Amino acid sequence: MKNTNNASSLLSTGLWALLALSGQAIADDLTPNQQLAHDIYKELVEIDTTTATGDTKRAAEAMASRLKAAGFADEDVHVLSPAPHKGNLVARLHGTGKRKPILLVAHLDVVPALRADWSVDPFKLTEQDGYFYGRGSSDDKYMGASFITNLIRYKQEGYKPDRDIIVAMETDEEIFDHNGLGIQWLLANHRDLIDAEFALNEGGGVYVKDGKAIRVNIQTSEKVPVTFQLDVRNPGGHSSVPRPDNAIYHLAQGLVQLSKFEFPLHLNDTTRAWFARSAQFFSQQTASDIRSMLSDKPDALAVARLSAIPVFNAELRTTCVATMLQGGHAANALPQLASAKVNCRIIPGEPAAEVKATLIKVLADEAGQELGISGN
Ligand SMILES: [Zn+2]
Repeated sequence: MKNTNNASSLLSTGLWALLALSGQAIADDLTPNQQLAHDIYKELVEIDTTTATGDTKRAAEAMASRLKAAGFADEDVHVLSPAPHKGNLVARLHGTGKRKPILLVAHLDVVPALRADWSVDPFKLTEQDGYFYGRGSSDDKYMGASFITNLIRYKQEGYKPDRDIIVAMETDEEIFDHNGLGIQWLLANHRDLIDAEFALNEGGGVYVKDGKAIRVNIQTSEKVPVTFQLDVRNPGGHSSVPRPDNAIYHLAQGLVQLSKFEFPLHLNDTTRAWFARSAQFFSQQTASDIRSMLSDKPDALAVARLSAIPVFNAELRTTCVATMLQGGHAANALPQLASAKVNCRIIPGEPAAEVKATLIKVLADEAGQELGISGN
C-alpha cells in the first residue's frame, strides 16, 4: 500500500478478504474454495513482481489463465502490457446490467525485498505460527487473490449480480505509476474496460478478534501530505566568539514550539461516522470519551485523552511533525544555516495555505520573527 499520497476519491476497503484476514493463516482442512484461494495466493506471491525488476505481466497472465480455465470468455479477460515485463489485468463478470458496473482494484507490483533482510524467502509463501510470510502477502496480493478467487466462484455458482463486476489488477502502484504504465495507462487507453459507477481499492482494512472479522473499515479519502522546508540563516562567525543569535538555537526553539502545538479538532462526516460506529469496540473509558467528543458539548479532557492516542489523534486533526534536520558546516564555525523539514498531513478540505499561515505563527520567536518557510 502506498502510505500516502494524494487525496483520492476512490473508496477503499478490505471487504473482500476471503482467505486470509489480515494475513492470518488458514487451517489444514480446507474447503475446495479455500484451497483455490490458497493456491492463487501462493502463485501470486511466488511470482516476483518487484516494480523495477520483477514481471507484472507474468502475474497478469497467470491470473488470466486461472479465469479462462474457470470458464471466462476471452473477451472478458484482458492482459494489457504497455511495456516489457509490465502487465495489467482486467476481467469482467457479467451481471444483469440493471446498474452500472463496480470496479475492484488491486495492484500486482510489490516493493523490493532483499533476501538478506528476510528470515524466509520473500518470494515463497511461507506459513508459520499462524501467519503467512512473503513479499506482497498483505500488500496487495491477498486482495488480488481474493478478487480472482471470488470471480471464479461467482462464475461457477452462476451468480448474476445486478451490475457487472470488473476486477483490475494494475502494475506500478508502488511507484505512484510515475511512468504511466498502470492505472493511468488503463484510463487513457482502455477506459471503456474499467468504466464503473464506483470503485473499491485497498486501504480500509478488516479487523479481526478471536478469529472473526468484527469490522470492515472504509476510507473515503486520505489526508493530504504537504512538506514544508524551514531555513534559518545567520551571518555566522567563529565558534570562539559565540553570539546570542544562533541559527541552530533559533530553529530548535521553533521546533520545540511546534512540538507543543496541536491543530484544532476537525471531524468530518467520515471520521464522525467511524468513531460513532467503532466506539463499541474499545474500552469503556475510550467509548465514553468518543461519545463525549461527538456530542454537542465535547469534554476537553475526553478529547485530550483521545488525542494522546496517536492513531486517534491522526484522525482528529491536521498534524505537522518535524522529520528531518540539518545545520552548520564545521565544528568550529557558527552555523550560517539550519534547516528542517516539517511534514504535514492535512484533513481534506483544509487549505494548505491556512496550515502554512498557522505554522508561521507557531514557529515565530518571542520577537515575532518568522523562520524562513517554504511549502512543499
Ligand atoms: Zn498497496
